[in-house]
Amino acid sequence: MVVKIVSACLAGINCRYDGKNNVNETVLRLVKEGKAIPVCPEQLGGLSTPRESMEIRNGLVFTASGKDETLAMLKGAEETLRIARLVGAKEAILKGRSPSCGKGRIYDGSFSKKLVEGNGVTAELLLRNGLKVVPEKEI
Ligand code: SF4
Repeated sequence: MVVKIVSACLAGINCRYDGKNNVNETVLRLVKEGKAIPVCPEQLGGLSTPRESMEIRNGLVFTASGKDETLAMLKGAEETLRIARLVGAKEAILKGRSPSCGKGRIYDGSFSKKLVEGNGVTAELLLRNGLKVVPEKEI
């Protein structure tokens, strides 16, 4: 069976920056059926939960208080890609707008809820490595 990678917060895991989740019933069902593996790139990058919210500005990832967490975000993306390869995933269903998981539209780095075109760090790495990335709103 070909499994997908999914953002862990969509599977109801409390890995969001604020310690909550974004459970999506379709994603949860895929995990329960053994068709999807939940991963949280930010936790895989070594960041704690809860943690400060982050946004991408000029290609780097900053927390709301200005700390540069780009290296942790890159590590989390690489670990997520490693898991995707281990399980042979060809597709990832990822949480929209996140600086890690967002695809197409992400926050602009000003922490004012403005969106710009772009991908989160993990979404970008998965796309560059040939995976299909689907925002949860499109499933
Ligand atoms: Fe969810 Fe991705 Fe953020 Fe983790 S990094 S909480 S999986 S959106």
